[in-house]
Amino acid sequence: NGSSHDQRNAIPNIRFTDIGGQTRAKKELMEALDFLIEQEKMNEYGIRPLKGILLTGPPGTGKTLMAKASAHYSNAVFLTASGSEFVEMYVGVGANRVRQLFERARKTAKKQKKNRAVIFIDEIDVIGAKREGSQHKEYDQTLNQLLTEMDGIKKSEIPIFVIAATNRKDLLDAALTRPGRFDRHIAVDLPDKNGRAHILSLHTKGKPIHEEVDLDKVANETFGFSGASLESLVNEAAIYAMRDESVYIESKHFSQAVDKVLMGEQTDRTTTL
Ligand code: ATP
Repeated sequence: NGSSHDQRNAIPNIRFTDIGGQTRAKKELMEALDFLIEQEKMNEYGIRPLKGILLTGPPGTGKTLMAKASAHYSNAVFLTASGSEFVEMYVGVGANRVRQLFERARKTAKKQKKNRAVIFIDEIDVIGAKREGSQHKEYDQTLNQLLTEMDGIKKSEIPIFVIAATNRKDLLDAALTRPGRFDRHIAVDLPDKNGRAHILSLHTKGKPIHEEVDLDKVANETFGFSGASLESLVNEAAIYAMRDESVYIESKHFSQAVDKVLMGEQTDRTTTL
């Protein structure tokens, strides 16, 4: 489907200011992107171009948002894939998909007259995990192809910057984290209280929040919540308000929503046990 394909490759409409908390991670990422943008200057000094960044941290903390914001920040086309998409029964299919992804990045950048492309690979651990005992040929070919593409980036006319994400950094093969590959690691951890307050303020924007609602208090009560859980919390609070036929989303709706989200996460946990 052409239109969804174009959408996938478009410059995302997410900016760093849309991401709550994560102050240090955003700063580190922007610094790395500034390198990418000033590649010519770096060439003058003979600085090796950055090829990849690894975002590590628990689910729902904003890694995908960070990758999208990176593409926006550097005015690059954005392509996304998940490690699991490269896993196939047949040897060579995964490697081929990796090749096609980089090819598409170059083509799309040219077509949209952009100088850069950002490729985001979520769940990189699926193809980049350490090998133990019996080698798995298919995964190796896929990983090797990714490394080859990344090594070859220097020669291509369109710089491609690869951002990979994982919840399991400990699983990754050293070949991936070697200098010249994903040699910068940025932790995208669960937000602290200020981060949670910031995320809550972003997700309540434009919603009819009653003035008695104290988002700092909600932030205090949501220790351990990820950005994704906070987004879901605001949504649940709005649903409770609607059910009450309340004009505003009130404190009690937030309290109910906190319980609901906590309960949901507990059920998730028990079902995966
Ligand atoms: P996963 O590891 O599960 O892929 P992720 O870290 O990539 O998760 P995202 O997909 O970026 O998480 O976040 C999911 C959703 O949660 C976002 O679309 C957004 O609504 C919300 N969210 C997560 N983190 C933040 C944040 N820091 N600021 C604002 N919203 C956030």
